[in-house]
Amino acid sequence: MSEVGAVIDVSNVCWSDEIAPLGERRPRLGRLDLLRDAWRRGRGASAELTLIADESLRRQIPPAERRRLDAMVRAGEIRLAPTADPELLTLARDSGLYVISRDQFVDLRRAHPWIPSAASRFLAWRQGPDGLRFVRSGVREVPEQRKSRAEEQKELIRGSGVDLRRADHARVMEQDWRCVSAACFQAMLWPDRLLLWPDIARRDGSALCPTCGSPLEAKGPRPPVRVVVVSEASTDEEILRFPLATETSVLVGRGSLPHGVNLAAPDLPHPAATGRVSRRHVMLSLSGVHGPGRGGRLAVTELGSSNGTVREPSGAGGRTEALVPGEETVLGPDDALVLAGSVRLRLSGRLHFPGERGLPSSPGSVAATTELAD
Ligand SMILES: [Zn+2]
Repeated sequence: MSEVGAVIDVSNVCWSDEIAPLGERRPRLGRLDLLRDAWRRGRGASAELTLIADESLRRQIPPAERRRLDAMVRAGEIRLAPTADPELLTLARDSGLYVISRDQFVDLRRAHPWIPSAASRFLAWRQGPDGLRFVRSGVREVPEQRKSRAEEQKELIRGSGVDLRRADHARVMEQDWRCVSAACFQAMLWPDRLLLWPDIARRDGSALCPTCGSPLEAKGPRPPVRVVVVSEASTDEEILRFPLATETSVLVGRGSLPHGVNLAAPDLPHPAATGRVSRRHVMLSLSGVHGPGRGGRLAVTELGSSNGTVREPSGAGGRTEALVPGEETVLGPDDALVLAGSVRLRLSGRLHFPGERGLPSSPGSVAATTELAD
């Protein structure tokens, strides 16, 4: 018996095909009942449980279960959150609760560095002869690079309607797309390849232009992609991020240009910083991305901007270097660029489509291996 309560990652549990109905790769609310019963068998009927679910679960479960979920929410038994993970980790941290989830929370490790030191409180489940048993989920320290990549994958999914657990959605994200609508602003800027991620139609999982909403034309497998993070130089506060595909040149500047990224679009922050950037400031291209962990080379050409561009080497002691207009400079793996003294560009962690299955196939894709000793 334990007086320590637990918080349940409800969506993660409902998606687990290791709880009956076994092998069914759709979320089921009934799995939560089985897990909750197992916990109470071990810990006592009064064991304190907090249930938090992603709002998206409501749409994903069968209609009959949806009505039951709504009733549980009304009764205060379950809380729905836009994304449950940050909320349940904060609660676990502040109240010392067990966390019942097969998720390793890699995308939240920078915000929650305490996780590996509390590994014994992170529990997964395993089907035993007498029902479900709880085992350590095996959270451990992960490299910075993996944290940053996981953050990007979440970033990519957030707000886009993309659910990488669905095979049809994963297929859309593995393709390269272009918009062929004659009236589309995005198609005008990017006639041969969308720079943005596609939207996915909720109804049938097809790919839609994020700008004009018309159906997209598939161009074949997406080439390897890395993400460029743009920030205000003095505070490093993020302005935007954009994907950069291999063998594609991208103009970075101010205003709308074909094959261009507009740093001064009206809805972006830090207009004072981006206002110093020239209309055509630098040209970026990425090459030599061969596979997972092979970073690729970022080359930059300064286009004769008014306020200049410097290469900013990583680490202390590195000397910044002003770029010569018209000459291509290949950056080191951790170098940054500073445009007009006010805007910083750097490559984020690796992101690679297709093939590299760093994208989780299910929320519980990491096997639980360590027995719980209690
Ligand atoms: Zn379009």
